[in-house]
Amino acid sequence: MKVLVVNCGSSSVKYTLFEMGNEKKIAWGLIECIGLPEAFYKRETVKSQERKESVKVANHTEAVELIINELLDKNKGIISDVSEIAAVGHRIVHGGDKFSKSVLITEKVKEQLKECFSIAPLHTPAHYAGIVAVEKMLHGIPSVLVFDTAFHQTMPDYAYMYALPYEFYEKDHIRRYGFHGTSHNYVSQRAAVLLNQPLSDLKLITAHLGNGSSITAIENGKVIDTSMGFTPLQGVVMGTRCGDIDPAIIAYLIDQYPEYKDGKTLNDLMNKKSGLTGVSGLSADMRDILKAISEGNKKAQLAFNMLVYSIKKYISAYYGVLNDADALIFTAGIGENSAPVREAVCKNLNALGIELDAEKNKERSSEERFISTNNSKVKIIIIPTNEELMIARESRRVIGNNE
Ligand code: ADP
Repeated sequence: MKVLVVNCGSSSVKYTLFEMGNEKKIAWGLIECIGLPEAFYKRETVKSQERKESVKVANHTEAVELIINELLDKNKGIISDVSEIAAVGHRIVHGGDKFSKSVLITEKVKEQLKECFSIAPLHTPAHYAGIVAVEKMLHGIPSVLVFDTAFHQTMPDYAYMYALPYEFYEKDHIRRYGFHGTSHNYVSQRAAVLLNQPLSDLKLITAHLGNGSSITAIENGKVIDTSMGFTPLQGVVMGTRCGDIDPAIIAYLIDQYPEYKDGKTLNDLMNKKSGLTGVSGLSADMRDILKAISEGNKKAQLAFNMLVYSIKKYISAYYGVLNDADALIFTAGIGENSAPVREAVCKNLNALGIELDAEKNKERSSEERFISTNNSKVKIIIIPTNEELMIARESRRVIGNNE
């Protein structure tokens, strides 16, 4: 049984085709810069090496057509008929409060998704275009929506509400949603396997640290709280995002600077020009920041310290919220690869029973591994995330339930 996972961004389509028997990827790739002259198509299969070339694609429909036709190609392809694809799983960034779990696509679901356009205007229309394009090419093959926000829908109201006048929640659905849910869900399930305990017995703190980062508190397999909020801007310091700031700063900027008069310019400032980039003036990439620190760059050091400190604060808060923790899990680009960040985050958290083994932390590996000392009360685990596989699993589960 094969499942195709599709991730449509505002100007890109990424895909992975899984053979679900052994859960291995058999084809994957992406088309970027859709609608622009510099559009390109990069892809690979288990049978053929990576190829990259310029393409002319005007929209998501043409991009999806190109991808499916190549999967079917007699020479370069990997399937001989579309009917080999049992299901398509679409990654959806924001399900609002309409979707608390993955769903099979129906006309009604598509209408509900349209109602989520305003809450994630950059992402949801692109997802929708991808869904329609896939339906056209793979007519009759069930499609499933898997939401980044769904896993967090178990949060209690006092955790997801903002203390604004209640009418903004009722009218505009302003509340904490949380993101990276597919990743937090995946690593929490893997942690239960590695700890050899049911998820229902575990208290976990999961740290997804990538370009965007979020920390989540999970008890009995259910999210209790998560650091991202109404949008993926809230929470810890990130590559280009400021994370938590005093909201009154926004009012101040509007009053003081003529250029910050609308949501777009302010969003650009806080989402694209802040975080590691904004403070260091150098780069959003942790590798560049670490290199600059080794060369004595003070602003890079400050940016690093701020990012680490913000992560420590969330971990400590969630330890308190959970009233204990069985494991702290690191995942995503920084979480999986950056020993200095993990070391700095875990430093002086021994009062919480979090003790990192310095040597294990430094070992380079792409495997799941424990990096806590033998005496550490809270186990520290690196678990490489696999959002695509989680979406494929969810899609298989959902079509199974609907057969
Ligand atoms: P995204 O959030 O876009 O999915 P990733 O999870 O792939 O991003 O994380 C990308 C980030 O991971 C990079 O910007 C970089 O800061 C960081 N990263 C990747 N490899 C390393 C490494 N070896 N050392 C430090 N940071 C790394």
